[in-house]
Amino acid sequence: MEIDFNDLIRDAKTLNATHAAIAKVKNILFNEDFRKQCEQNICGSYNKNWMCPPAFGPIRDAKERALRFQQGLLIQSVHELKSSFDWKGMMAAALDHTEIFRNILDSMKKNYSFEEILPLNAGPCTYCEKCAFLDGEICRFPDKAVSSVEANGIDVMALEKACGIPYYNGKNTVSYVGLILFNVAS
Ligand code: SF4
Repeated sequence: MEIDFNDLIRDAKTLNATHAAIAKVKNILFNEDFRKQCEQNICGSYNKNWMCPPAFGPIRDAKERALRFQQGLLIQSVHELKSSFDWKGMMAAALDHTEIFRNILDSMKKNYSFEEILPLNAGPCTYCEKCAFLDGEICRFPDKAVSSVEANGIDVMALEKACGIPYYNGKNTVSYVGLILFNVAS
């Protein structure tokens, strides 16, 4: 079945993405510096999650995996904050974003037939309240586990620019991004 990519964009916006666009994988810039931010433990998830470094594996493998895809649906959700120091608001926005991201992913899987799909969100995989990694156990839901654009070393700002999506959405807002790579059957 042929897929009209405009339908994917429309569905994403219906499911509360503020912005959505089709990104060509050939426009993705991979940069070790983003991966280094994971290693510097900026988000506090380094070595605590199966989908984060070091358990996630080397950036070389991540890049190879991503380059198997032709395109992806880039989504961005924008959230209002009380101020630029509204840490609680940022955390709540991250949860809202992940709900939006997972709803869009579920809708894509349910309504379209892709040959392959690779979802990348923002930050660690939060499908389980506590990642099995912390208990020394294997991932409990491998089909639900999602890595991040950062762990894959993707330059999000450059990709947004290439897709015509604004990186900055105004004072007292926070924006989160997800990228769902897919291949359609030829
Ligand atoms: S699905 Fe659960 S166990 Fe697997 S990576 Fe995500 S949080 Fe960890």
